[in-house]
Amino acid sequence: MDEAVKSFSKEIDDAFQSAWHAAKGGDAKWSEIMSSYGAEPLPDSDKEKLLNSEMKITRGAFPIELRRVFEKIGAKHPNDYKNFAMDSKILEYYQKIKPFSGLGDIFSNAATGTQKYSQGLQKEKHSTMKCKNCGAPRLEEMQYDNCMFCGSKLFEPA
Ligand SMILES: [Zn+2]
Repeated sequence: MDEAVKSFSKEIDDAFQSAWHAAKGGDAKWSEIMSSYGAEPLPDSDKEKLLNSEMKITRGAFPIELRRVFEKIGAKHPNDYKNFAMDSKILEYYQKIKPFSGLGDIFSNAATGTQKYSQGLQKEKHSTMKCKNCGAPRLEEMQYDNCMFCGSKLFEPA
Protein backbone atom coordinates (compact mmCIF):
# COMPACT_ATOMS: atom_id res chain seq x y z
CA MET A 1 0.00 0.00 0.00
CA ASP A 2 1.27 3.46 -0.88
CA GLU A 3 2.42 5.34 2.22
CA ALA A 4 0.93 8.57 0.93
CA VAL A 5 -2.61 7.23 0.95
CA LYS A 6 -2.57 5.49 4.30
CA SER A 7 -5.86 6.07 6.00
CA PHE A 8 -6.16 8.15 9.16
CA SER A 9 -6.91 5.16 11.37
CA LYS A 10 -4.04 3.17 9.89
CA GLU A 11 -1.61 6.01 10.50
CA ILE A 12 -2.86 6.44 14.06
CA ASP A 13 -2.55 2.72 14.64
CA ASP A 14 0.97 2.54 13.19
CA ALA A 15 2.12 5.46 15.35
CA PHE A 16 0.52 3.83 18.40
CA GLN A 17 2.34 0.56 17.71
CA SER A 18 5.67 2.30 17.08
CA ALA A 19 5.46 4.25 20.32
CA TRP A 20 4.47 1.11 22.20
CA HIS A 21 7.35 -0.92 20.79
CA ALA A 22 9.91 1.79 21.47
CA ALA A 23 12.28 1.43 24.38
CA LYS A 24 11.30 3.02 27.68
CA GLY A 25 11.26 6.78 27.14
CA GLY A 26 11.70 6.40 23.38
CA ASP A 27 14.60 5.35 21.18
CA ALA A 28 16.30 6.22 17.89
CA LYS A 29 13.63 4.58 15.76
CA TRP A 30 10.87 6.48 17.54
CA SER A 31 12.82 9.73 17.19
CA GLU A 32 12.95 9.11 13.47
CA ILE A 33 9.20 8.66 13.31
CA MET A 34 8.67 11.85 15.29
CA SER A 35 10.93 13.84 13.02
CA SER A 36 9.34 12.32 9.90
CA TYR A 37 6.10 13.91 11.12
CA GLY A 38 7.80 17.12 12.20
CA ALA A 39 6.66 16.46 15.76
CA GLU A 40 8.74 18.05 18.46
CA PRO A 41 10.35 15.57 20.87
CA LEU A 42 10.50 16.27 24.59
CA PRO A 43 13.77 17.88 25.66
CA ASP A 44 16.06 15.40 27.42
CA SER A 45 15.74 17.37 30.64
CA ASP A 46 11.96 16.84 30.62
CA LYS A 47 12.35 13.14 29.85
CA GLU A 48 14.69 12.87 32.79
CA LYS A 49 12.09 14.54 35.05
CA LEU A 50 9.35 12.23 33.82
CA LEU A 51 11.48 9.11 34.23
CA ASN A 52 12.02 10.10 37.85
CA SER A 53 8.42 11.11 38.48
CA GLU A 54 5.73 8.94 40.02
CA MET A 55 4.28 8.26 36.56
CA LYS A 56 6.13 5.00 36.03
CA ILE A 57 6.36 3.40 32.64
CA THR A 58 7.87 0.06 31.73
CA ARG A 59 8.33 0.60 28.02
CA GLY A 60 7.45 2.84 25.13
CA ALA A 61 7.66 6.49 24.23
CA PHE A 62 6.08 9.07 26.51
CA PRO A 63 2.36 9.60 25.88
CA ILE A 64 2.84 13.29 25.19
CA GLU A 65 5.14 12.49 22.29
CA LEU A 66 2.60 10.10 20.81
CA ARG A 67 0.02 12.88 21.16
CA ARG A 68 2.26 15.23 19.19
CA VAL A 69 2.51 12.68 16.38
CA PHE A 70 -1.30 12.18 16.48
CA GLU A 71 -1.71 15.95 16.13
CA LYS A 72 0.46 15.92 13.02
CA ILE A 73 -1.51 13.01 11.59
CA GLY A 74 -4.69 14.91 12.38
CA ALA A 75 -3.46 17.93 10.46
CA LYS A 76 -3.21 15.70 7.37
CA HIS A 77 -6.69 14.27 7.87
CA PRO A 78 -8.76 17.10 9.35
CA ASN A 79 -12.12 15.44 8.69
CA ASP A 80 -11.27 12.22 10.49
CA TYR A 81 -9.48 14.13 13.22
CA LYS A 82 -12.63 16.06 14.19
CA ASN A 83 -14.13 12.90 15.68
CA PHE A 84 -10.92 11.56 17.15
CA ALA A 85 -11.01 11.03 20.93
CA MET A 86 -7.46 12.11 21.65
CA ASP A 87 -7.49 11.92 25.43
CA SER A 88 -9.00 8.46 25.57
CA LYS A 89 -6.60 7.13 22.93
CA ILE A 90 -3.66 8.54 24.90
CA LEU A 91 -5.06 7.04 28.08
CA GLU A 92 -5.42 3.67 26.35
CA TYR A 93 -1.76 3.95 25.39
CA TYR A 94 -0.72 4.84 28.92
CA GLN A 95 -2.56 1.75 30.25
CA LYS A 96 -0.34 -0.35 28.01
CA ILE A 97 3.00 1.10 29.09
CA LYS A 98 2.45 1.45 32.81
CA PRO A 99 3.65 -1.26 35.19
CA PHE A 100 1.29 -4.18 35.48
CA SER A 101 -0.09 -4.74 38.97
CA GLY A 102 -1.14 -8.33 39.45
CA LEU A 103 -4.64 -9.25 40.53
CA GLY A 104 -3.34 -10.92 43.67
CA ASP A 105 -1.86 -7.63 44.66
CA ILE A 106 -5.11 -5.82 44.18
CA PHE A 107 -7.07 -8.28 46.34
CA SER A 108 -4.59 -8.55 49.19
CA ASN A 109 -4.13 -4.81 49.36
CA ALA A 110 -7.71 -3.84 48.68
CA ALA A 111 -8.64 -2.79 52.20
CA THR A 112 -5.51 -0.93 53.17
CA GLY A 113 -5.06 0.34 49.65
CA THR A 114 -8.44 2.01 49.53
CA GLN A 115 -7.90 3.63 52.88
CA LYS A 116 -4.48 4.93 51.94
CA TYR A 117 -5.82 6.07 48.64
CA SER A 118 -8.57 8.21 50.09
CA GLN A 119 -6.29 9.63 52.75
CA GLY A 120 -3.83 10.45 50.02
CA LEU A 121 -6.51 12.13 47.95
CA GLN A 122 -7.57 14.33 50.84
CA LYS A 123 -4.03 15.50 51.40
CA GLU A 124 -3.38 16.03 47.75
CA LYS A 125 -6.52 18.02 47.17
CA HIS A 126 -4.88 20.97 48.83
CA SER A 127 -1.43 20.74 47.39
CA THR A 128 -1.27 19.08 44.02
CA MET A 129 -3.22 19.52 40.88
CA LYS A 130 -3.64 16.30 38.92
CA CYS A 131 -4.21 15.64 35.30
CA LYS A 132 -7.85 14.65 34.71
CA ASN A 133 -6.80 12.29 31.96
CA CYS A 134 -3.84 10.29 33.29
CA GLY A 135 -3.59 11.38 36.93
CA ALA A 136 -0.08 12.80 36.69
CA PRO A 137 0.59 15.47 39.30
CA ARG A 138 1.51 18.86 37.97
CA LEU A 139 5.12 19.60 38.78
CA GLU A 140 4.86 22.65 40.96
CA GLU A 141 8.27 24.03 40.19
CA MET A 142 7.31 24.50 36.57
CA GLN A 143 4.76 26.64 34.77
CA TYR A 144 2.77 24.87 32.11
CA ASP A 145 -0.82 24.47 31.03
CA ASN A 146 -0.83 20.99 29.56
CA CYS A 147 0.04 17.80 31.37
CA MET A 148 3.72 17.13 30.92
CA PHE A 149 3.11 13.39 30.80
CA CYS A 150 0.14 12.91 28.48
CA GLY A 151 -0.33 16.41 27.05
CA SER A 152 -3.97 16.75 28.12
CA LYS A 153 -5.17 20.22 29.08
CA LEU A 154 -4.80 20.77 32.81
CA PHE A 155 -6.89 23.90 32.75
CA GLU A 156 -10.08 23.69 30.78
CA PRO A 157 -10.87 26.89 28.93
CA ALA A 158 -13.48 28.86 30.87
ZN1 LIG B 1 -1.90 13.72 31.88
